[in-house]
Amino acid sequence: MFNFVQKRFKVLRIWKIGVQSVTGFEEQYRARTQKSFNMFQEASKYLPGGVAGNGKFIEPYPIYVRNARGARLWDIDGYEYTDLLMGAGVHILGHSPKVVLDAVKKQMEKGIHYYMPAEAEVKLGKKVCQLMSAIDMVRFVNTGTESTQMALRTARAYRKKDRIGKFEGNFHGQHDSVLISALSTAGEPNNLLPSIDSAGIPKAFAQDVLILPYNDIDGTLSSIRKDAKDLGAVIVEPVSAFGLGSIPADKEFLKAVREITIENDIPLIFDEVVTNFRLALGGAAEFFGVKPDLVCLGKILGGGFAIGGYGGRKDIMDKMVTPKTGLWDLKEQIFQSGCFSGNPITMTAGLVVLDELEKKNIYPRLNSITEKLQDGLIEIGEQFEYDMLVTGVSSILQIHFGIKDIRNKRDAMKANKAMAKTFHLGLRAKGIMASAHPLFLSTEHTEKDVNHILEVTEIVLKEMQSFN
Ligand code: PMP
Repeated sequence: MFNFVQKRFKVLRIWKIGVQSVTGFEEQYRARTQKSFNMFQEASKYLPGGVAGNGKFIEPYPIYVRNARGARLWDIDGYEYTDLLMGAGVHILGHSPKVVLDAVKKQMEKGIHYYMPAEAEVKLGKKVCQLMSAIDMVRFVNTGTESTQMALRTARAYRKKDRIGKFEGNFHGQHDSVLISALSTAGEPNNLLPSIDSAGIPKAFAQDVLILPYNDIDGTLSSIRKDAKDLGAVIVEPVSAFGLGSIPADKEFLKAVREITIENDIPLIFDEVVTNFRLALGGAAEFFGVKPDLVCLGKILGGGFAIGGYGGRKDIMDKMVTPKTGLWDLKEQIFQSGCFSGNPITMTAGLVVLDELEKKNIYPRLNSITEKLQDGLIEIGEQFEYDMLVTGVSSILQIHFGIKDIRNKRDAMKANKAMAKTFHLGLRAKGIMASAHPLFLSTEHTEKDVNHILEVTEIVLKEMQSFN
């Protein structure tokens, strides 16, 4: 008990240091990012927040990138960074792998975008179906957001039910049905209520969303049971990345969700936008040994270019998505199209990356190097007696402060966000590109990079203390 109290006290003390140290790291950051600051001021006149997406707005202002290669980024001030964001988890083979550049250059000579289908789309579709056991047929779209939007539309059409079950703290992109209880909470822990995460989302959307407790088997089963006859789908992130902080689901939990959805004939959707081809070639379904009915795809699948995709059981995809001859029956089937969907550049890049992943069995080394980084971070955290928590799985990781364990959104909200912000600012001020976002390693990261990240971490934590 005494130890526990003592440790808590330390956390509080360090939190104070963390807030003060913003100034120290901010000074260092500003000193080396003058050109980024100037560009930010210019950008802010034309782009809200100086960026194309809130996620890229990192305080006090973002670093503007000049170029990237392998595991590195260079900013417009000329500074080099060891990159841990890796295009938000896109670049599993590092930035701009030569095989992708060569294939894309060749494709560009043949055309950039046709609107009509081409061979690359067929090849990538076939490859995805071969690699992912839950996918018999697949449609390509342009973002992860579209993936979850269309997978949910498909499932709702199949079940002829509007209501969906989604887990608190699971992020599925930014369309109106899912930006609910992804970033915020409402209700009591034993009675979760939908919480709209963005201005502009009509309240009516929340009425059709049942909010479920992540990693809580009993709570989830009883909620699904009560609502089963109204549910068109249950969607889950097998590893809850952006919303929870890189927290994997328990295998037993996913199994229980699978069983109850089978019992009630509710399509189960895995949102694998982050996990596809990251946890394993067969994604989370292979990794956890749980097979969903539909799967949402994105990120790695596009080989560095914008992509999304959704697919799954042939009977569902065929019935709901395959256009029938003559007029489409949009009373029974879904509408889904897209000017850039399946464009040959993205398809070519995606195919090259999947071929590489298939040929090279990259996962054992990539996972072990990530584990080395995680272990090192934990060790340094303990050395400084910081309550530093490192979460993640495979080559996904995230660093939290002021909390010992995170299993759901309620836990995640108790973490010390101010301290995490300070720490990550310190890393960026010293050449490690990281933020309070899921972090990713690639095959281009070396043991030397891991050691370098650990050395910088130690310096940052030491400085956080000395700012006191
Ligand atoms: N699903 C998950 C699990 C995600 O993490 C994200 C975004 N990172 C999305 C969907 C949305 O993808 P996009 O940003 O490509 O729309």
